[in-house]
Amino acid sequence: MITKDIVIIGTGFSGMGMAMKLRAAGRDDFVVIEKAHDVGGTWRDNTYPGCECDIPSHMYSFSYELNTDWSKSFSGQREIHEYMRTVADEQGIRPYIDFGVEVTGASWDESRQRWTIRTTGGDDYEARFVVAGVGGLHIPNVPEITGAETFAGPRFHSAQWDHSVDLSGKKVVVIGTGASAIQFIPIIAEQVEQLTVFQRTPAWVLPKKDKPTPEWRKQAFAKVPGAQRAYRNALYWGLEARAIAFNGHLNVLPFAEKIVKRHMEKAIPDPALRAKLTPDYRLGCKRVLQSNTYYPTFLRDNVELSTDGVREITADGVIDGNGVLHEADVIIYGTGFHVVDAFDYLDIKGRGGVDLAAQFREGGVETYMGMMINGFPNLAFMLGPNTALGHNSVVFMIEQQTKFIIRLLDEMDGLGAAAAEPTLQAQTAFNEEIQRLVEKGIWTQGGCTSWYLDSHGKNRTIWPKFTFQYWWETRKVDQLAFAWEQAA
Ligand code: NAP
Repeated sequence: MITKDIVIIGTGFSGMGMAMKLRAAGRDDFVVIEKAHDVGGTWRDNTYPGCECDIPSHMYSFSYELNTDWSKSFSGQREIHEYMRTVADEQGIRPYIDFGVEVTGASWDESRQRWTIRTTGGDDYEARFVVAGVGGLHIPNVPEITGAETFAGPRFHSAQWDHSVDLSGKKVVVIGTGASAIQFIPIIAEQVEQLTVFQRTPAWVLPKKDKPTPEWRKQAFAKVPGAQRAYRNALYWGLEARAIAFNGHLNVLPFAEKIVKRHMEKAIPDPALRAKLTPDYRLGCKRVLQSNTYYPTFLRDNVELSTDGVREITADGVIDGNGVLHEADVIIYGTGFHVVDAFDYLDIKGRGGVDLAAQFREGGVETYMGMMINGFPNLAFMLGPNTALGHNSVVFMIEQQTKFIIRLLDEMDGLGAAAAEPTLQAQTAFNEEIQRLVEKGIWTQGGCTSWYLDSHGKNRTIWPKFTFQYWWETRKVDQLAFAWEQAA
């Protein structure tokens, strides 16, 4: 058993950010558990061709680790991963990380006021406080399709890209047209003999204003004090403005929808093809995508768009809803992740042995500030329920959460508390406010279903306000919102 004051799970932006802030606060008695052998989280795992960020890099990075050298506006996976590796080295957090250890579950021991964290590939851990930085988008959703196991060739998910499979000259079927798929489809279309894309719901795809960073700008960022910070601030407010439309002012949307329609008209002269690619729900209801190469891909002779549904997979390919076989040597799932049901994959037992996944299933996913849960003392989730964003950088949210957790630890020390958990009253008030707001937002009003919504149609994913409001609400720990428990 390894004993530490604090255990952090994961080394994505969340886990790394928490580790860096703990060190900066002089709290060195912590360990970070990482299942893989490198830092990076989603930016280590998603290696599919064309993987890049759809939030500008100067904003999608730590505010206290600015990088003057981003090569373009929206950096690719390799560059972001390299940034994270460099930051981990520069901030000296690698020695705190136990690599190759996977967490299987955690239980709160009430009498000892400690968490036991069970793992495979290493010892178990004991800690006063646990911070879960496991992210919401890490459990691939591979749909159960009749006959999939009989398929003769390789099939894999975009987040588990099989780089040993050479796609050149092959017949490839892609299922799904979400954020990941629209990035790799244009690239593999150039390599394969034939590509069939199965689209269930068309996405709104805006033009991507991606440009290489000019050398003078990199120099200015490096040499002119405040220049990069000012640029970042301008990006922040530009992105923040998008929340106005999504959070309830739906009358702003037709303007953006027109931009996409014009983008489509330019790229796709054929009205029938354009109709197939045009969404019948409001922009923003699902995550808005950006690409300059996605729509033109469907003009290629070797690319076919199928909107007839997937009925079955056979040894030779995919049979659509009309019974037509689309031959395939390789099938690629661009079908997203388990998001609202991600907690079903965690085995966390709180006070009285209560199972977190069961509590969420039966009572709904309710947290305080998207981080902490009544009945689960000294446990904080980063980017937990209702703190993901569709309009700005989640790294901003992560930074507010790391600061809040440090403040909570300080408060516990000040009060001599061994354990802290949000009161049910504070948690309920937080959720009622969130649910009142999401119901007015585009995700509920926009006429679509999405992975933002749970099986009851409730949005358990998105933060429905401006992000500066999250900063404001988490800037202090409200003592009355917590039950503080003295040492047993
Ligand atoms: P996604 O956006 O959830 O897209 C999944 C796609 O698969 C959708 O088109 C969905 O159709 C389709 N699908 C799912 N199950 C299906 C089934 N049984 N049969 C047919 N089609 C099915 O997933 P993703 O593309 O992996 O992206 C997930 C999230 O990761 C993004 O929204 C984003 O937050 C993040 N991401 C970010 C970036 C970035 O640039 N920062 C890049 C990639 C991913 P329906 O729409 O009909 O459900």
